Amino acid sequence: MENGKRPKVVIVGAGLGGIWAAKVLANAQVDVLLIDRNNYHTFLALLYQVAAAELQPENIIYPIRKIIRELPNVSFLMAEVENIDCEKKLVKTSREEIAYDYLILAAGSDTNYFNIPGVEEFSFPLKTIDESIFLRNHIISIFERAVEEHDEIKRKKMLSFVIVGGGATGVEFSGALSELVHRLLLKDYPMLDMSLVKVYLLEASDRLLSAMPENCRDYTAKHLKMMGVNVYFNAFVQRITKDEVYLRDGGLIQTETVVWAAGVCGVSFAKKLELKKTPDNRINVLPTLQTVHYENIYTAGDLAYLIDEEVGRPFPMVAQVALQQGALAAKNIMRHLNGEPLESFKYNDLGSMATIGRHLAVAKIGKKTYTGLFAWLLWLVVHLIRLVGYRNRVIVFINWMWNYFIYERAIPLIYPSKTAPNSKKNI
Ligand SMILES: Cc1cc2nc3c(=O)[nH]c(=O)nc-3n(C[C@H](O)[C@H](O)[C@H](O)COP(=O)(O)OP(=O)(O)OC[C@H]3O[C@@H](n4cnc5c(N)ncnc54)[C@H](O)[C@@H]3O)c2cc1C
Repeated sequence: MENGKRPKVVIVGAGLGGIWAAKVLANAQVDVLLIDRNNYHTFLALLYQVAAAELQPENIIYPIRKIIRELPNVSFLMAEVENIDCEKKLVKTSREEIAYDYLILAAGSDTNYFNIPGVEEFSFPLKTIDESIFLRNHIISIFERAVEEHDEIKRKKMLSFVIVGGGATGVEFSGALSELVHRLLLKDYPMLDMSLVKVYLLEASDRLLSAMPENCRDYTAKHLKMMGVNVYFNAFVQRITKDEVYLRDGGLIQTETVVWAAGVCGVSFAKKLELKKTPDNRINVLPTLQTVHYENIYTAGDLAYLIDEEVGRPFPMVAQVALQQGALAAKNIMRHLNGEPLESFKYNDLGSMATIGRHLAVAKIGKKTYTGLFAWLLWLVVHLIRLVGYRNRVIVFINWMWNYFIYERAIPLIYPSKTAPNSKKNI
């Protein structure tokens, strides 16, 4: 811009919002720098399948440099963003300070532990590829240890798995875990009495998949129960220790495994930013996706907080919102540069879906709902299409067919072994 240079757009986060923003800006008269702490993009919707030993981790991640090969004006920096000086227009990273003319914040979300005692310390989050590998290793190592455990009470505690949160992640993971135990591990550990294995799904409200219509919610609860998942409603977790989950109503579950899928909040580095934020650390944005005080800073995806005026609720933290907002932030930057009026965000809701197990899924597309085999096939197709990379799609498809016809999981391994300790410390 100044000195005849092209404007520089910095995008923080190569998740769905960031990648879509970069794609829209490709070939525009700007230089784009995409920054992420990892050198890969993660398809979060299939993390639970890595944790349930269904897919290999590398099948759901994709190198960012490979994505931007086709985008001539986009470069990449692998670095942790630590802060932003909004006045001086500088992004402070773990490697260097970077000047920008326009900034798109698309750094997503972190697990929300709601300050409940013991949750951060003792539960397993499911938000990154490392966490999904860690959880898989932990689950398989539990079975290896249970074989050698002769104390019935200790064995029962080991084989109790608690999943907290009845949203899509909690539902999908509890179904997948139940199938892992009763279809595959049953064959690998014939010396274990699998009736001792208990999978609990705890939901603080009175419903699963709260954004879904009633018939889908009922279908989900009914089929999870048929698969052996103990679904508890109005089960509010009060405290977690190394071996116990305490509920507000006095209930107690002894377990070594609590998977925390109860919510997300704005990514932690946003706490430091001098931008208007919500109590759960998301950045308030205008309908144009600009931040409240800085017209050259845009926010997209999970990190952006914007009320959907039609329903009076914030836009949900889901993939379609993230990629549509990423695209709009990029388009609005180009409009701003061209002196054109900016557009407001309008969400094109393509529907939502969740899978429960083999042949079992629920889907809501427009006003129609689907359950069972058709919804399950739809879920498979949509997730294959959304997965980044042709090779990943082919391998995931083969894995799914293999699991479907041969009832074998891809990877019930404790690998790499250093992430399989009998400990709940972070990796
Ligand atoms: C387990 C799970 C399952 C899900 N399933 C579904 C589903 O089935 N359907 C659906 O619609 N939605 C689903 N979602 C939600 C959906 O994935 C998110 O809404 C979407 O990914 C948000 O996109 P985003 O670009 O805002 O953030 P993300 O996709 O999370 O990307 C954020 C990026 O920012 C990077 N980053 C973060 N902090 C920094 C930093 N300080 N420095 C540098 N880089 C940083 C991260 O490494 C990451 O690459 C799921 C989410 C999870 C966790």
